[in-house]
Amino acid sequence: MQKSVTRTLVCQLNIGEGSPRLLTEGQVEARRVVNEVFRLDDEGYDWKQIEEIAVDRSNHVQNTTQRLVDKAIDALERYYDEDDYGHPGQNHEHAFPVRMNHGEGYALTVDDETGSVNFRITAQKRTFVRGTLQSGPEQIEMLQTALTDEKWRVGTAEVVSRHGRHELHINVTHETATVRSEEDAVTFVGVDVNEDNVSLAAVTEAGVEDSIVIEYPEIKQERHEFFTIRKRMQSVGQTAFETTIENREQRFVHDRLHQVSRRVVEWSEQFDDPVFVFEDLKDIRDDIDYGTRMNRRLHSLPFAQLQTFVSYKAAWNGIPVVKIDPEYTSQECLSCGHTDRANRQKKRFKCVACAFQDHADRKAAVSISAKGLQKLNRNVPALNNLPVVRVRRQRNGACEPPDHDPVSSVRGYQADGDSGSVSS
Ligand SMILES: [Zn+2]
Repeated sequence: MQKSVTRTLVCQLNIGEGSPRLLTEGQVEARRVVNEVFRLDDEGYDWKQIEEIAVDRSNHVQNTTQRLVDKAIDALERYYDEDDYGHPGQNHEHAFPVRMNHGEGYALTVDDETGSVNFRITAQKRTFVRGTLQSGPEQIEMLQTALTDEKWRVGTAEVVSRHGRHELHINVTHETATVRSEEDAVTFVGVDVNEDNVSLAAVTEAGVEDSIVIEYPEIKQERHEFFTIRKRMQSVGQTAFETTIENREQRFVHDRLHQVSRRVVEWSEQFDDPVFVFEDLKDIRDDIDYGTRMNRRLHSLPFAQLQTFVSYKAAWNGIPVVKIDPEYTSQECLSCGHTDRANRQKKRFKCVACAFQDHADRKAAVSISAKGLQKLNRNVPALNNLPVVRVRRQRNGACEPPDHDPVSSVRGYQADGDSGSVSS
C-alpha cells in the first residue's frame, strides 16, 4: 500500500539580504491577522466573510494570509469542539508564526555548486529576506532530495521565533512511501494513550508476546503548571506574556511527545510484521457517554498528538495502522468478558465478576490489540495469561538505565498493590 508521509524539518536562517527585523514585523502582522479573525468570529461573521476581510486588510500576500486564517480557524474549531482553555484571546501582541506556501510566500532552491539550500521569504508584501538554510546534515539532505526528486513535495513552512532567533519549519512530504499492508500483519500492537503514560501490548494469534507502560508524568505536571500560570495571568489582566508561556508549553509537550513516539515505534519494531492499533478518535467524539476517564483523555492534548506522531513515524518505517471502536476497551474483562465500569479503579483493573486483575492501562492496550485482530478477522487468543507488567519512565530523551527500571515480579497484577508498586 502506498501512502504519503510528511515530516517537519527545522532550519536556522543564515540571512544574507534583508534583515531579521523584517521577519519580526511579519510575525507581528501575522498576530494582528489572527487577532482580527478571533474578533470577527466574536462579532458573528461567518468564516468565508472573515477570510475575505482578513485578506483585504492584511499586509501579507494573499496565500500567506489565507494560511494564517486557516490556522486561526483551526484554533477556533478546537475551542468549539473541546472548550479547553476558553475562547482564543485577541489581546496577544506577541509575534505569531508566519505560515506560507512553497513557491508563493517562500521559496527554496538548491545551489548547484555548493549543494546548500537557499531561501527567499516574503516577509510582508514587497519585502524580502534571502539567505541560506542551516540545519543538521540529515535535514539538509532531505531538503535537497525533496527539491529535486519528483516523489517528494515541499509544502507549507512557518517562520518561528525560538531562543531569540528566527527558524523556518518546513513540511516535506514523501508521496509514495511504502507502508506494508495491514493484511500481512503478524503482531498487533495496541496503543492506549493516557494523560501520564502510553501502554503498549504486542499480541499475535498465538497470544500476548509482551507489553510495556511508558510513563511521562512530567507532561501532565508541566501542562498543569502552565495552565495555572496562564489562569493567574488572565485573572490579573497580564496577557502580554501569555503567548510566550503558551509557546513554551507547546514546545515542551511537543518535544517530549516526539521522544515518546520514537520510543513507541522502536519498541514495536522488535516484533514480526507489526501493525499499530489505535482507538478511533472520531468514534469517541460521536459518542456521548464514555464516562469521565474518556472525557479527560479526549481533552488532554497528548491523546490526539501522540497518535499523530506515532502514525507518521510508523508510516515512515513502513508500519501500517488500523483503528478500532474504543467502546469498553478499559472496562471489559480479558478473562470472562464481563464489562463494567466498576472493573476499573485508577491504575488497577479488577473484574467484579471473576476477580481477574491487571494493570488497568496495560489491560486496555491488550483489549485494543484484540479488537485489531478481530477487525482483520484473525483468531483472538486466550488473553488471561499476561506477561509481567513493565513500567518505564521516559526522561530527557532516553529511558532510564535498567537498574532504575522497575520490573514487577508478578504475572498480572498483585491484589494488594497500587500503581506505586509497579511504577516507582
Ligand atoms: Zn472477569
